[in-house]
Amino acid sequence: MDYRSTRSEFRCNSLDAVLRGIAPDGGLFVSDSDIGKGFDWKAVIGLDTLGMAEKILSHLLPDFKDMKDLVNKAYEGKFETKDLTPVVKVGDKYVLELFRGPTSAFKDVALSMLPQLIIAAKKQTGDDKETVILTATSGDTGKAAMEGFHDVPGTRIIVFYPDGGVSPIQRAQMATQEGANVKVCAVRGNFDDCQTAVKVAFSKINSMKELSQAKKALSSANSINIGRLAPQVVYYFKAYSDLVSMGRIKMEDKVDYVVPSGNFGDILAGYFAKLMGLPVRNLVCASNENKVLTDFIRTGVYDKRRPFYRTSSPSMDILVSSNLERLLFLASGCNASVVSKWMSDLSSEGIFTVDEKYMAKIRETFLSYSCTEKETIRTIGDVYKKDNYLCDPHTAVGMKVADDYRKDKKDDVPTVVLSTASPYKFPTPVSEAIGLEVKGSEFEQIKAINLKTGVPVPKNLSSLESKKSVHNDVIDRENILKYVLSVLGI
Ligand SMILES: *Cc1c(COP(=O)(O)O)cnc(C)c1O
Repeated sequence: MDYRSTRSEFRCNSLDAVLRGIAPDGGLFVSDSDIGKGFDWKAVIGLDTLGMAEKILSHLLPDFKDMKDLVNKAYEGKFETKDLTPVVKVGDKYVLELFRGPTSAFKDVALSMLPQLIIAAKKQTGDDKETVILTATSGDTGKAAMEGFHDVPGTRIIVFYPDGGVSPIQRAQMATQEGANVKVCAVRGNFDDCQTAVKVAFSKINSMKELSQAKKALSSANSINIGRLAPQVVYYFKAYSDLVSMGRIKMEDKVDYVVPSGNFGDILAGYFAKLMGLPVRNLVCASNENKVLTDFIRTGVYDKRRPFYRTSSPSMDILVSSNLERLLFLASGCNASVVSKWMSDLSSEGIFTVDEKYMAKIRETFLSYSCTEKETIRTIGDVYKKDNYLCDPHTAVGMKVADDYRKDKKDDVPTVVLSTASPYKFPTPVSEAIGLEVKGSEFEQIKAINLKTGVPVPKNLSSLESKKSVHNDVIDRENILKYVLSVLGI
């Protein structure tokens, strides 16, 4: 299986696709053939998580040698639970807990794997350049990426996040990051401003001859990198396998997945799982008040010209969802010119419209609902009271949407809600939701929540308070390019 750009005929193998992150024309890499071909999905059901990861990743990234070794190095001993991503029954739904990794965010699943893939790809291709990871984060990617890349030889990582646009805990996680090869910087503006400016800086620097003269190459840890998306396919199979072993379903029964969405990477991985044969009925896109994706799936009009809201689920405060481009490409029958046109309309006009025939294809699998800020907080409280389960605001958006979806469907197909963060990453809204008086620092709130609920605090978060903040830079987005060049010394 090779990869090709969503915007041109540019092609490369899976090693190159991982190293490049993004195609030279600005497009994203997608498989150039039917990704289900030659994959026996039933053969992975029942395997342990690492075994599943090995099989699935070998299929999606076929040029990597010894995937088993890479998977073991990525995951062994790094997660709270041996099966990495446990499934828990909560009321009438199943919660797929993706936050048991080293930074308590679902991004750990992919970002534990990505450094291994990059190191291996460099080794196999004889690439001796320093890999510079340039990443914009809405809160969780940055920390999870640094955790994966810090002190990895031959790599450097620079993370930008929106100043004031992440939770105090998320900020503390990033500002205290140790490692000689890491740099973190806040950017004035919201996440979309930050991500767009980083993308522009990325392509400018990428075309500079000084970069290759300095023996450096840029790559990305955002979900535009196929090496980041592929590991996320695994947990869709894992959840299905768990439902089979619980006796809730038989092989080949359908399952629905509800996915709290922002950049559309997590839910797209579910689509890949479906294309690989997994019996997925619907993928339900759950949005917060920044419901650009929900509106798009319902109307076919993607319109980012709308107010931007800061919510208690900041990792979903996104109006430009990068990975949607991959779905559009697949739905259009791999039509790079129509995708290029939509993307250029989006950047020049802020809006594009997708024809009904393509939307019908998308709606065969994707449905969408949104959840207001009030409903998010209420849901955390309700789920805690009713089911004695504490969820974070992103997961709460998924839980509320799952209820709305199930009301519409009224059938017995099981609903799996992807849980994307630990509630302790967002103690302010969680405290409010479960009726605690919100006072003191977020660290004090963590203790109060723990005292009331008895839910254990992940170690990486409880140890954060005593760590020193070492990254305190704040810049305007016009200065991102200059900042990167100075860090790189070119
Ligand atoms: C990144 C993130 C999401 C959104 O995932 P996408 O792949 O960007 O759609 C949801 N919840 C949390 C906690 C996240 O960190």
